Amino acid sequence: MRIPFKVGNTVVTAEVFERGDASPTMLNVHDDENTSVAAGQTIIEQTGGRLIALRHSGKRHVRFHLDGSRYAFDPNRIFSDDGIRATLEQQGNYSEAAHQTVKRFAAQYLECFALDREAIIFALHNTVDETFSVRSYLPGADHATAAAKVHVSEQRSPFDFFYVTDPRFFGHLTQQNFNVVLQDNTTVPDDGSMSVHFARQEIPYLNIEAEMDHLNAQIDMVRAAREMMDELGLAKTK
Ligand SMILES: [Zn+2]
Repeated sequence: MRIPFKVGNTVVTAEVFERGDASPTMLNVHDDENTSVAAGQTIIEQTGGRLIALRHSGKRHVRFHLDGSRYAFDPNRIFSDDGIRATLEQQGNYSEAAHQTVKRFAAQYLECFALDREAIIFALHNTVDETFSVRSYLPGADHATAAAKVHVSEQRSPFDFFYVTDPRFFGHLTQQNFNVVLQDNTTVPDDGSMSVHFARQEIPYLNIEAEMDHLNAQIDMVRAAREMMDELGLAKTK
């Protein structure tokens, strides 16, 4: 199934893969992070679920024209007004009309798939810049203020890590010696990302981040998250 969303003069298409039970829902918003999509599809083919991937340009940022000006945004920074403003400004131009265009897209995306009524959300990402890793959340590092706890595994690549909003997930995945970051839901800066949005909605959420050429590692991570969901009894929608 393919669902188009109009954003200014461009179209962002949501590709939906579904098999068996509709839970879990896995979200991919960065169009250049295809290993994560392949990993999610592998697990959905084995055990069921729904994967929604955004397609537009094959790149991370969505670009559009509106009233003769060019705009761009990171689709994982659009779930709050502060986030929309910041991502439009960082990527170039800002206008109130562009802000409203992006805000409408974010609302349509959440509503179309009833995401705010899910019992759990998996977000699929790949770490692509060779700097962003689980270590980015350690005390003193760039994203330290977002994290309540960090577990670094010496047996895994630091680029393959979970970023979770629920302490149960942190405990469960740490026991299996994955790299795990627990978001501090009270101090995390509101950057308009999904992790902040779903924390505010009180919907358990996790990012599954892996390097682009670590498909097998990422499949193992998605499988571990899926098994954790079943063990915690989170498969049903609210
Ligand atoms: Zn991403």
